Amino acid sequence: MDAKEKRKWLWVGKIARKTLVKAVDLIHEDMPVLEFVEKLENYIKSYASPAFPVNVSINHVAAHYSPGIYDSTVIPGDSIVKVDVGVHKDGYIADAAISIPLNRDYEELSRASFEALMEAEKAIAPGVKTGSIGAFIEHVILSYGFKPIRNLTGHKISRFNLHAGKSVPNTKTAFSDKIEEDEVYAIEPFATDGAGYVVELSEGFIYRIISARRTGDKKLDSILREMWRRFRGLPFSERWVADFVGKEKAKDLLTALLKKKVIMVYPVLVEKERGFVSQFEDTVIVTREGPIVTTGIAELAREIL
Ligand code: MN
Ligand code: MN
Repeated sequence: MDAKEKRKWLWVGKIARKTLVKAVDLIHEDMPVLEFVEKLENYIKSYASPAFPVNVSINHVAAHYSPGIYDSTVIPGDSIVKVDVGVHKDGYIADAAISIPLNRDYEELSRASFEALMEAEKAIAPGVKTGSIGAFIEHVILSYGFKPIRNLTGHKISRFNLHAGKSVPNTKTAFSDKIEEDEVYAIEPFATDGAGYVVELSEGFIYRIISARRTGDKKLDSILREMWRRFRGLPFSERWVADFVGKEKAKDLLTALLKKKVIMVYPVLVEKERGFVSQFEDTVIVTREGPIVTTGIAELAREIL
């Protein structure tokens, strides 16, 4: 990786970190999640672009929840809130998350996934199998008396591609991928006091284009073209579609595009036994001299835990 490219990965990482600092600053009980997310996305937009809608996953919700167009959810006081942000510029992506325990009861659960992330970052190197990173993550989380979520994983990132093939499991895994020099990875341990498994809800608010095929409908094709221009192959919110088609039409158009199988929706993921969930995530560049953590959430995490 040349110096210029490295600077780009580092720059988006810095914006992601600053966005999470802002999240800690803004969050309070009874705050509408929609307001919270819009402030964070606008902050990202003042520097770069969101690589996906800001995810705000509360309590037993593990991932893929971002408010829809008419969301009225507020941040509950007695809660643990995962804030997961993505930033991109020219397709260089940073993906980072923190858990904010609004009740001290959830600090240990938060610490479990944070310390697991720190161990994983020490272990990631060229030639290492991703399954052995999973073993470190699992070991730390179990030592806190919690379970890792075994069907959520970290992932390789490449330009304009958030999930670029290889995965970093959160449990010891025998058959896994080999990590190579100069690859970029998001590492994201999830800990829970539940079953250690997430299931899908029927609802979803985050979408992604999966096919460039014509739908045979002129109106839908022009919407799809505009989506591709704005979001490429990255996940987007129904709120961002409302920005150019209007709030009233967005949902129907998305439903029509889903039916044509040119876009997909990410269902909200919740813990199977409705256990509470914590998550921390950093993006790292793998080098022979040790990982370069582009998002560097450790300092912020230590302030809030
Ligand atoms: Mn993430
Ligand atoms: Mn991720």
